[in-house]
Parts: sequence; structure tokens; C-alpha cells
Amino acid sequence: MISKLPNTTTSIFSIMSQLAADHHAINLAQGFPGFESDSVLIDLVNKAMKDGYNQYAPMPGDKKLREVISKKIESLYHKKYQADREITITAGATQAIFTAIAATIHKDDEVLLFTPAYDCYKPSVELFGGKTVEIQLEAPDYQPNWEKVSEKITPKTKMIIINTPHNPSGMLFAEADMLQLQKIAEENDLLVLSDEVYEHIVFDDAEHQSAAKFPQLAKRTFITASFGKTFHNTGWKMGYCAAPEYLMKEFQKVHQFNVFSVNHPVQKALATYLQNEANYTSLPSFYQEKRDFFLEAIKDSRFKFTPSKGTYFQLLDFSEISDERDIDFADRLTREHKIATIPTSVFNKDNQDFKQLRVCFAKTEEELKKAAAILNGI
Ligand code: PMP
Ligand code: GLN
Repeated sequence: MISKLPNTTTSIFSIMSQLAADHHAINLAQGFPGFESDSVLIDLVNKAMKDGYNQYAPMPGDKKLREVISKKIESLYHKKYQADREITITAGATQAIFTAIAATIHKDDEVLLFTPAYDCYKPSVELFGGKTVEIQLEAPDYQPNWEKVSEKITPKTKMIIINTPHNPSGMLFAEADMLQLQKIAEENDLLVLSDEVYEHIVFDDAEHQSAAKFPQLAKRTFITASFGKTFHNTGWKMGYCAAPEYLMKEFQKVHQFNVFSVNHPVQKALATYLQNEANYTSLPSFYQEKRDFFLEAIKDSRFKFTPSKGTYFQLLDFSEISDERDIDFADRLTREHKIATIPTSVFNKDNQDFKQLRVCFAKTEEELKKAAAILNGI
């Protein structure tokens, strides 16, 4: 057999974005900002190109950028990652996740995963002969049940993947969750992959609980992050991984041969831009305003929702509107009502359908208004 991923299909993000384009629909499906990245940052990229940073960056990434990331993590989460040995700049969080998995998952290893789960974890594990063991989070609060997690652990369990703030539910892990995770990971000698791409997008004065804040957890954890989410430029595909030296050593063995190094001028620009804390500390209020504006605009619609606590996604329950499968309903909304959303069954254990669509509210007020007018009429 040629295929190593016989059960994997085209990502729902490609499918829905193409469908939105084909039908001239508002695209609230794939998660990307509908507005420009800061012109200051764009100017810094231009400057870096003019200054001659157009050849390969160092394999782990620009030194200054790694130093600034190290300082940022230390000031936010009080954990020092050595810039020269414990941080690697990657082509988005996707490459960081793939590389962490490629570097550590062997044939027949089991990897625990909370579903609904972002779509890149499972195929990455399977590609290296691992098996995901899925634990379904339940609406409306999607909080993890740690007893269930313990029950799923076997001698083959190698890693647990978490994602907070959580895509697609907008749920956050509390400090108590991280302490439970730390305990379970230590007791069972598990690696942890903590996908924190939305670390700066948390609402209602909540605090992001980074794995970096928990010393015994950080010792066994790969943290992945995405500049695309933080600085509104998902198309630049820029992110990083932070992990203790013994894990980063293995990570870099793979990184150097699947990409070697990533976009040099963008790294130079980020090294300067990231030094201004306001460029990320402003995000919670920026996105909370968008969430509140959007939810106020659709409060009288027939969709039901619990406000998102983080990320730029909102789940909408359509069980009072239709009993179609979510995939069919989302397809019909795109074709007939000109609004594209993500059917969440594709993220669930066994593709269970809970009649939930995911929408992205990282859009201009004008676009959100238009989207709300459509949703109110469904
Ligand atoms: N993890 C999660 C939870 C995401 O939502 C995304 C992007 N949608 C990624 C990882 C990938 O990030 P990037 O675009 O930086 O590769
Ligand atoms: N992370 C984005 C989302 O959840 C999409 C990323 C992608 O298209 N692969 O919508």
C-alpha cells in the first residue's frame, strides 16, 4: 500500500474556504483575521529584506528572536528557557507540532488527545505509527475529566496533547487542570505537547495557564506557539517551540531535515516587534470587543451559544434549527445563505455530530455585522 494515512481526507479548512470562494460566501470557517497585520511589522519585514537578511537563517532560528521569546516567556510565566538550546523558530505551530511528534513518537505508542481536537494532531501521530486515544469533551463547558484520562493510560501511553485556549470550543484549562495534568504526567512518565497558539487571546480577565508555569510539567513538555495568531498574519507561517534541552535536542534533529530553518526577514522583524509588549498585551481586549459585538448581534437568532472564553472562535448550536448532519448543514449555509462555518464533527471522537458549528470572529465590524444579519435570518 502506498498511503501511510489511508483514513485521512482533505482538511476541512481547505474544503470550507474553497466552498466559500466558489459561492461568494462570507468566510467565518477557516480561522484567519479579516484585517491587516500592523504596518509597523510589515515595514520591519521590508527593512530586513533591504538590510540583506535574505539567505538562510540559523537552523534553530534568529538568535535575537529566540532571546526575546525567552524573555517574554520568563516575564509572563516565570520559567527560563535557554535561548540557545531550548527554543526553535518554526514554520507556524503546525510544523512545531509535527516535529515534536516526529521526534518522539514510535510505532505503537499511544497518544492521549482531547476531542474535539484541532485536525493536525491525529494524522501526525499516525504517520509515525502511533495511535491516538481520544477523550471527548462535552458541551457546554468542555472541561476535561481527569479521572477519565487516568483510566485511558496504559503501559503504551507516551504522550498527552493539550490545547488551551481550546480550538474549537473556546474553553480554557484552569490552574487545577494543569496541576492534575502535571500529576498524571509525572506518575506515568508521559511527554506533553501543549499547543498554546491562542495564549494571548483570553477573555473576561482570565489568565492563560501555560505549561511553562508548572515546573514539573515544563520538564516534560513541548510548548508550541504561533505568531500568525498573535500578530494577524497567518499567511506568514511563523511560530516556535519551547522545550527542555533534552527534548529540544531531539526536536532539532528532525527540524534540520524537514525545513532546516524558516523565513529569515520575518524572524528579524519579529525580533524587534516582539520587544514591544503592548503588541500582544492588547489582544484580549481587542478580541473580547469583537466577541461581544458579534454575540450581541446574534443574541436573538435561533443559534444557541455559551460565550467563548478564549481563541477567536465561537461555537453555535443549531439543534433548534435543523436536524441535518452538521456537515450537510454547513454546506447548505454556504451555498444558500452565503456564510461559511466549520462543522465540528470532523474534530470529534468517531466524528460524532453534536449540531455545533464553529465561527471565527476575527473579522472587521462590518463583516461581523453582515454575518450576523445572515445568521439572524436562518
Ligand atoms: N494549533 C491550533 C489549535 C490552531 O488553531 C492552529 C491554527 N489554526 C495551529 C495549531 C496552527 O498554527 P499555524 O498556523 O501557526 O501553523
Ligand atoms: N488554525 C486555523 C483554524 O482552526 C486553520 C489552519 C489551517 O487552515 N490549517 O481554522
